[in-house]
Amino acid sequence: MVNILAERLKNDEPLDRKKFRKGAYRLYIETYGCQMNVADSEVVLSILNEAGFGLTDDYKSADLILINTCAIRDNAEQRIFNRLNEFKHLKKRNKSLLIGIIGCMAERLKEKLVEKEKLVDLVVGPDAYRSLPDLVEEAESGQKAINVLLSREETYAEISPVRLSKNGVSAFVSIMRGCDNMCSYCVVPYTRGRERSRDPITILSEVQDLIDNGFREVTLLGQNVDKYNWNNGMVNFAKLLAMTAELDPDLRVRFSTSYPQDMTDEVLHTIAKYDNICKYIHLPVQSGSTAILKKMKRGYTREWYMDRIRAIRTIIPECAISSDFITGFCNETEEDHQETLSIMKWVGFDYSYMFKYSERPDTYAAKRLPDDVPEEVKSRRLKEIIELQNQLSLESNRRDVGGIFKVLVEGESKKSSDRLFGRNSQNKVIVFDKQNAEIGDYVIVKVNDCSSATLLGEIIRFK
Ligand code: SAM
Ligand code: SF4
Repeated sequence: MVNILAERLKNDEPLDRKKFRKGAYRLYIETYGCQMNVADSEVVLSILNEAGFGLTDDYKSADLILINTCAIRDNAEQRIFNRLNEFKHLKKRNKSLLIGIIGCMAERLKEKLVEKEKLVDLVVGPDAYRSLPDLVEEAESGQKAINVLLSREETYAEISPVRLSKNGVSAFVSIMRGCDNMCSYCVVPYTRGRERSRDPITILSEVQDLIDNGFREVTLLGQNVDKYNWNNGMVNFAKLLAMTAELDPDLRVRFSTSYPQDMTDEVLHTIAKYDNICKYIHLPVQSGSTAILKKMKRGYTREWYMDRIRAIRTIIPECAISSDFITGFCNETEEDHQETLSIMKWVGFDYSYMFKYSERPDTYAAKRLPDDVPEEVKSRRLKEIIELQNQLSLESNRRDVGGIFKVLVEGESKKSSDRLFGRNSQNKVIVFDKQNAEIGDYVIVKVNDCSSATLLGEIIRFK
């Protein structure tokens, strides 16, 4: 790569990236997994931009390919292995190409990836992105470039992420990192380390910067945003939400993920108080059975969760609620499964993300609880909850037909360039005829029809 770069720049100076003009190296990043990984890829791009890398959409012409990985379920990891095998062939044509994995698979699979299978040149964990420019140099000189150290402090607080999203309307803002919850099935506390909150001043300044650059919506991200805590409670999540909302009444504020055990009424009252905090809460329940929740070490019961739903319905009556579910967790009986179906009906979730339990190495469940629900039973239960959720989503959308919503326009509909799509405060996607609206506008839309996934409507006025 050094030679290519020298030729490209026609420059005889010794290699010092900081002296090279930006964009001299081509970086291709592929991101898997959650929104947090998208936010992290934007931090990585910012760090590597400073070191002379410019982004390319074409991996075939890249000097450095990074895959930001997800370890949450086994199938997520398998997809990444397949992708790495595809990229490996590129090395035959381009000997100086470097391939790296970053993110959650890094810690667990570093030896396998670098030493045994020689699939990658770099392995960098979620708390080590500042060392990426140095690690690239090391990899170029043929050394093993690995840094998977987790940190108790790193929040990349002052780094201005370079946005990957092309719409220029909505952006993710990371407010905390890691997780201390230790749910028994979950690999996140091992891959992303201890929970830590980011300095609120840097969060607000990042959001202000986005507003100044025309963005209309931010999503504040953390594995458990309700545990956000700066300076011994001086700023908690409710205060952070309020401060963000007050920056600009035309900025929409979203957040993810809320945690049933920790979500306070103070947070709910704050959401109700500000028009521009979206009336949508993603509150994963995982299971409707208290016995399973206990095995999952979620720290709440079915009744506690139902109490939190009652609180949402009372304080924010127009709020939409979504959830995550895991089917076939250790020892899950048919009765437990029925309790999951019954809590889904009781809440009437607007939307859900549903998964089969996938045992993850090193977790409490992997060490102590048998993964004893047969694969076909897991699949059948998953199918049942997906079918029920589709029905609930359709019912929820049907209730919105005839309704009028303020929609932030996010882009062109995939099916037709004459139509646009955006979301209402409740996070529902609405598709409508373009008229004169543009991406980034707020429009008032009347809903005329729906499917289980989408509302269809027409603009009745501009904001
Ligand atoms: N922190 C968030 C929370 O607690 O709700 C979400 C974290 S995780 C990235 C997203 C979802 O993946 C979880 O809510 C859970 O439903 C699912 N998940 C996590 N570990 C899993 C596992 N081992 N098998 C299947 N699904 C899993
Ligand atoms: Fe994983 Fe539980 Fe933390 Fe969510 S709260 S990231 S499921 S340990």
